[in-house]
Amino acid sequence: DEAKLQKLFDTIKEEEIEFVDFRFTDIKGTWHHVTYNVKAVNEDTFKNGLPFDGSSLPAWQPINKSDMVLVPEAGTEFVDPFTADPTLVVICDVYDIYKNQPYEKCPRSIAKKALKYLQESGIGDVAYFGPENEFFVFDNVKVRDEINCQYYEVDTSEGEWNRGVDSPEYDVYNIGHRPGTKGGYFPVPPVDSMMDLRAEMSQVMEEVGLETYVIHHEVAQGQGEIGVKFGTLIEAADNVQKLKYVVKNVAHINGKTATFMPKPLYGDNGNGMHTHISIWKDGKNLFYDPSGYANLSQFGKYFIGGVLKHAKAVAAFTNASTNSYKRLIPGFEAPSILAYSAQNRSASCRIPWGAGEKSVRAEFRFPDSSGNPYLAFTALLLAGIDGIKNKIDPGDPMEMDLFELTLDEIREKGIQQMPHTLREAIENMLANRDLFKVGDVMTEEFIQTYQHYKFETSIWPWEGRPHPYEF
Ligand code: GLU
Ligand code: MG
Ligand code: MG
Repeated sequence: DEAKLQKLFDTIKEEEIEFVDFRFTDIKGTWHHVTYNVKAVNEDTFKNGLPFDGSSLPAWQPINKSDMVLVPEAGTEFVDPFTADPTLVVICDVYDIYKNQPYEKCPRSIAKKALKYLQESGIGDVAYFGPENEFFVFDNVKVRDEINCQYYEVDTSEGEWNRGVDSPEYDVYNIGHRPGTKGGYFPVPPVDSMMDLRAEMSQVMEEVGLETYVIHHEVAQGQGEIGVKFGTLIEAADNVQKLKYVVKNVAHINGKTATFMPKPLYGDNGNGMHTHISIWKDGKNLFYDPSGYANLSQFGKYFIGGVLKHAKAVAAFTNASTNSYKRLIPGFEAPSILAYSAQNRSASCRIPWGAGEKSVRAEFRFPDSSGNPYLAFTALLLAGIDGIKNKIDPGDPMEMDLFELTLDEIREKGIQQMPHTLREAIENMLANRDLFKVGDVMTEEFIQTYQHYKFETSIWPWEGRPHPYEF
């Protein structure tokens, strides 16, 4: 796109940019970067891309076929707020020069194929995603917490910061004002000691092009959330990468450590990535019908039906760590039951009550931020599309507190639950792999790589480790 490219080079001039930092996301979700001197960046860079070694990234290329190319996308750029010298960040796709096509293991390219599939199927033109990425902020000295059998980073120099833990060991450093377990939502300072930190995070988010609105302490000790405006599929996933980058770096320069880990603390709420979705066509929100339950259309219901039906497989991408499944237990506002409802925060899918024509949407509550946002959104979208194509009705909404259900009731009612482990999710994903292979969005090669990577780096090491609690 010529206009976007022109704008990028204008920014380089106006901001007196000295370095251009090219970024891309690996399978796991980690953002990688390589920096070029601005002198070496020109129009050809955007046409021909930049070479890099694909064999040094987890589960990508073998050593004998390691030459990969980064293709930067004009329009994604922002000035890096953390560098000493003016640096422009540009987000890239990965290109496969052997097959002469977008790299089949590049998550951002996979998400683009999913969007193309949505459009070519005639179902919709745009998919909007609004993720809510919760996080914890910990301090920076290693202390062992005997009660929770975990290590935490704790800074003993600044008593007023949240410890994120409620263990007697920390009382030495506790100046008395801090939220108790589940007490973080949301007393004013000094109990909330992260107000300035969150404000700084949200200001920096604005600098990198994220539009923030609500900024608050979350339920758990030391937990926060900063609401960012929704975007299209690719925008929203790019924005998750930016948000994580900002939250972690602002915490870091303040001597703290931020984490999006789904369940860092035993006994307190975990970190979700609730994801709001709507599909639009010809400028109309297809989820809207004023005569439907909570203004939700039959189209929206089918979408939800698809996601709930396939959630056990989708979880391989939306709940991509072994730790993810410690969050999905009753009692912490994170769902385990596959049902939908308006208002009900114990259901996997909530229809925000009172939303109108432009804002009716489904909020899926099971995802977390531990995986790759491009793959997570792709998986949700493909499951939803399948629901529409096959008219999968999710049945009636469930209004009761689903955390109260006994195992017998769950069985009698035939209610489905989220997987309990990453292994279960991956096995469901493999059993349901055709869902992700439609329109060639994910290839068999990619699916194999993904499952193997998860077994090698997460599942086997985790399953084989004696747990401190078992001692
Ligand atoms: N932290 C909760 C979770 O794990 C969500 C709390 C909320 O409703 O924002 O999903
Ligand atoms: Mg929240
Ligand atoms: Mg929410």
